[in-house]
Amino acid sequence: MYNRSYFIKTLVLIISLFIATISFAQVPNKTVKDLKGGRVENDTTPIYRLPWKVGMKVLLVQGWQSNLSHRGELAQDFKMKVNTPIYAARDGIVTQVKSDGKKAGLKEEYLSEGNNIVIMHCDSTFAGYWHLNYSGVFVSIGDTITQGQKIGLSGHTGYSAFPHLHFMVFKYDKERRRTIPIRFQTRKGPRYIRPGRRYRAV
Ligand SMILES: [Zn+2]
Repeated sequence: MYNRSYFIKTLVLIISLFIATISFAQVPNKTVKDLKGGRVENDTTPIYRLPWKVGMKVLLVQGWQSNLSHRGELAQDFKMKVNTPIYAARDGIVTQVKSDGKKAGLKEEYLSEGNNIVIMHCDSTFAGYWHLNYSGVFVSIGDTITQGQKIGLSGHTGYSAFPHLHFMVFKYDKERRRTIPIRFQTRKGPRYIRPGRRYRAV
């Protein structure tokens, strides 16, 4: 009698664990599918503003973890002409600027030539705006920035194959810089944007 009850209890435990595993597995699968589709329900992550003029349409040429130059990076490359005004995607404080770079190309020696602005947000994440034009930085370290404020001009400096804006949001994980997935406000609402599509700033 004791053995039989023990057997049933063990069986129930195994079945419960099996069901728990299946239902748990469904949650991340659904999230990945929704992320790919650009729609996530009950998402509480911050909403970023596309960093160019309202009404202007810009092509996302390279998205997350692309093999060309975003290997392991959740960054986005927006194709735009040199000297396109760049607007802050989110409120924050400027923590880094560089505007004296002139060279560009796909050589490692150009990595440090990229003019850039880094802005820290209230949740200790940072936004990086890269490849800005020579002297194309309108802000200084310590400045308080509001979302939508004009902060600089796009360009083609540093490790760059063509004029574009490299935009990424990252945080520090044990002093290592780690890029994070972000969503933008689009005409259809907040979306995780996809390469090969044009997006209008709203
Ligand atoms: Zn890039």
